[in-house]
Amino acid sequence: MIDLRSDTVTQPTPEMLEVMHQADTGDDVYGEDPTVNELERFAAALTGKEAAVFAPTGTQSNLIGLLSHCQRGHEYIVGHGAHTYMYEGGGAAVLGGIQPCPLPFAMDGSLPLDEVERAIKPDDAHFAITRLLCLENTQAGKVLPLEYLRHFSALAQRYELRRHLDGARVFNAAVAQSVPVAQICEHFDTVSICLSKGLACPVGSLLVGDQETIRSARRWRKMLGGGMRQAGILAAAGLYALKNNVARLHEDHEKAARVAEALATLPNIRLQEEPQTNMVMLAQDTVVEPLQQHLLEAGIKISGVRWVFHQDVSDDDVDKILDACRSFA
Ligand SMILES: *Cc1c(COP(=O)(O)O)cnc(C)c1O
Repeated sequence: MIDLRSDTVTQPTPEMLEVMHQADTGDDVYGEDPTVNELERFAAALTGKEAAVFAPTGTQSNLIGLLSHCQRGHEYIVGHGAHTYMYEGGGAAVLGGIQPCPLPFAMDGSLPLDEVERAIKPDDAHFAITRLLCLENTQAGKVLPLEYLRHFSALAQRYELRRHLDGARVFNAAVAQSVPVAQICEHFDTVSICLSKGLACPVGSLLVGDQETIRSARRWRKMLGGGMRQAGILAAAGLYALKNNVARLHEDHEKAARVAEALATLPNIRLQEEPQTNMVMLAQDTVVEPLQQHLLEAGIKISGVRWVFHQDVSDDDVDKILDACRSFA
C-alpha cells in the first residue's frame, strides 16, 4: 500500500532499528539516560539554542512550550488553522487557562503582521494579557520567508512578546530554503520539532529554547505524564534521524513536485498551487471521493486534498501514483 495520508506513517528502517537496539539507556526522569541527553544536546546545538527537551509527541512539545511562556489569563496569537489552535484538543485553554486569539493565515502561511499588531491588546483590565505570538513552519507545506520572520521577530520584540514556532516540519522549511535550521529558529524563543514526520522516527518530538524556558517545560512535561524512563531507545532513533534523514528531505520535495507537475496536465484534477515542500495540495473544492476510491483500488491511500510525500514513497510508487491519476483522468 502507498500511503499519502501523512508523513507520520513511515516505518523505521533497518538502520534506524539497529541504533535503537544498540542504544545506551538510563532513567531519563533522573536525567540519566545518556542517549536522551545526547539527543537534547545535539538538537540544541543544531538549532542554535541553549537547551532542548525530548517529548513523546508534537502536541505535548507545543503544549509545554505554551505552558512555559504563558500563565492563566494570558493570550497567544495564532493562526486559525494552526495545529496549536485547531488540532490539539484546546489543551492550552483546558490545561493552562491560556486564551487563544486566532487570526486567519494568509495564502502564504504567514500571519499578516498588521493584523497581528492590531490583535495585540493594550494594558486594560478588560482584556487577556497578550503574551505570545505563535507561527507554524511549514504551514500546510508552505515555507515562511526569512524576511517575514525578521519582521515578525521585530514586532514581537517591540511589544515584548514571546515567540513560539510550531516547527513540526521546520527541517522541510530549512531544506527548501537551503539554510541551516538555526537561521529559522533564531527568530523564536521556542521551537517544537517533530521527529516522527518526515524525519521518519517512530515516536518523538523536541522543544528547543533557552535554559530557563526548557527547565519549565521539563516540569510541565512531567506533570502531563511525559516523563519517560529508558527513553534512549526512542532518542537513538531521533539522533539517527537528525544526522541522516534531514539531507534526504529534498527527495520528498522532488517527489511532490514531480506529482504536482504531472497532475497539472490532467483535465479533471486541479491544484491549489505548486508544492514548496513535501505536500501536494489539490484545490480546496475538489470532490475527492471518486478519486480516493479509484486510487485505493490501485493500492494508494489518500485522506483528502493533502497528499504528503515521505521516505516510504519510492520513485516507483510515484510512477504508480501518476499512472493511477492518468487512468482516473
Ligand atoms: C503533526 C503535527 C504536530 C504534532 O502532532 P503529534 O501527532 O502530536 O506529534 C504539531 N504541529 C503540526 C503542524 C503537525 O503537523
